[in-house]
Formats: sequence, C-alpha cells, structure tokens
Amino acid sequence: MTETQERRAAVVTGSTRGIGREIARELAAAGMNVVVNSSSEKSLPAAEALAAEIAGQFGMEAVAVAANVADEAETGALIAAATDAFGRVDVLVNNAGITRDGLAARMSDEDFDAVIDINLKGTFHCCRAAAKVMMKQRWGRIINMSSVVGVYGNAGQVNYAASKAGVIGMTKTLAKELARRNITANAVAPGFIATDMTDALSEAQKEAIVGRIGSGRLGEPADIAHLVRFLASDEASYITGQVICVDGGMSL
Ligand code: NAP
Repeated sequence: MTETQERRAAVVTGSTRGIGREIARELAAAGMNVVVNSSSEKSLPAAEALAAEIAGQFGMEAVAVAANVADEAETGALIAAATDAFGRVDVLVNNAGITRDGLAARMSDEDFDAVIDINLKGTFHCCRAAAKVMMKQRWGRIINMSSVVGVYGNAGQVNYAASKAGVIGMTKTLAKELARRNITANAVAPGFIATDMTDALSEAQKEAIVGRIGSGRLGEPADIAHLVRFLASDEASYITGQVICVDGGMSL
C-alpha cells in the first residue's frame, strides 16, 4: 500500500482471545484499522479492551462489536460496522470457532449443529457479506481458519472435522469466484496451538501431542498470526485457494 492510499481495514471474527486476538494485533501492527469481535455482549469488554490496546500500542483505529457469527443478521451488522467506521473492508479473517467433541456414534444433533453453525455457516455468512464490499473495491483478502483436523480427520471430532473440511471447500470455491476482482481466499490449517481451546486437554494428552510434533512444542498464536499478516498483504496477491498447514511438522 502506498502512502496516498487509504488505510486498510480488517475484520477479525472471534478476536477476544487466543489466535484471533493475536491476529487482530498483528494486522494493526501492519498498519490496518481493525474490527474486533466477541460472540456476545458478555464478552464484549474483552473486545473493547483489545480495541483500546490496538489504538494505544499501534496508533490504529479499532472498534469492538458483539456478534454471534452463527446469526446472519449479526454478521451483517459486523461487516456494516467496518464500512460505517472505516468506509471499507479489505481483509476478513474468519477465525471464530468452537469444539463440541465426542465419538460419532454417540454425538447428538445439537452438538453437531452447533459446531457447523458457528465454524462453517458463520464463515459463509461473513464471506458473503464482506465479498459484496470487496467486489466493489476490487481488492480483498479472505483468510479462513481451518485446521489440520479438517485435512486429516481426528477421532472424536466428527463435527469439527466436517466443519473445517467444509471451510476448505468453501475457500477454494470463493478463490475461483473472486480471483478476477483482485480478491484472494486462503485457508490456514493450524496444528495444536496453545489457547483456551487446547487448554481443555489433559497434560498426558498434551505430552502425547508434542511427541508427534517435529518442532517439539505446541504452536503459539503468533505462529498463526504471522502467516495471516503475510496472506493479508499485497505481497501475497498471487496466492489463492490454498490450504496452508502451520503445525510444526506434525502432519508430515
Ligand atoms: P479460543 O481460544 O477458544 O477462542 C475462540 C474465539 O472464538 C473467541 O474469541 C470466541 O469469542 C470466538 N467465538 C466463539 N464462538 C463464536 C461465535 N458464535 N461468534 C463469534 N465469535 C465466536 O480458540 P482458538 O484456539 O484461538 O481458535 C481460533 C480458531 O482457530 C478457531 O476457528 C479454531 O477452530 C481454530 N484452530 C485452533 C487450533 C488450536 O489448536 N487452538 C487448531 C486448529 C484450528 P468469545 O470470547 O466471545 O466466546
């Protein structure tokens, strides 16, 4: 981006904590205004605190918006918050996600649907709303959070694996549909990253996982945020429809 261009604006779903929080900080550090998102009013203070931190630390503008991505009207309001505040949406990072683990034979419809509604349908809602703005701008970056579990499967995560594999198919399709408008769409597939999501694992489970990771450690949110920053940049304009695993060699 040249100095004469307007500052870019990014929307990062699920950015109160964990990977999303680090991505919002990283994009602000790269010179973007940011919309920070919490799933509800209850967790809005965490989003507001991050918005204040972004303004103070990086001098970027940031707004905090409570929106459940599973709710189509709320995602519309989330994208509208970016156009209202910044007049644009250049980067959309679909990071919001949940797990409701269980073996397939015993999984309830409720647990299956909850994960699909947030991880897959929520991603679609945000992509559809943001793509309309990006198409008019003739520039955009869509970065969808998948998982190595969506690429390789994982016992006990049939709902999560289906949602994250769905995100990959969706991303490749968006890449094909939007390429001519200068909009790229890529999926990031993290391995095991140290956040609240993986904190639920026992120490024995964590040790077993680390044993399978070539790098010998769990990933950090920054390991993911650095890639997102690159994919959101001008330098990544010729990369689209890709699924990039960030897992310390675990899936090799
Ligand atoms: P996390 O620490 O559990 O944080 C989840 C974030 O998503 C929170 O900010 C949460 O907001 C938000 N969220 C949840 N439901 C939402 C909804 N309905 N609408 C809007 N926001 C919602 O998770 P994480 O580990 O950082 O994971 C981030 C993403 O990376 C997820 O898509 C996850 O599947 C993926 N991933 C993680 C790992 C890993 O090892 N951690 C590996 C592969 C992929 P609230 O605070 O408001 O609830």
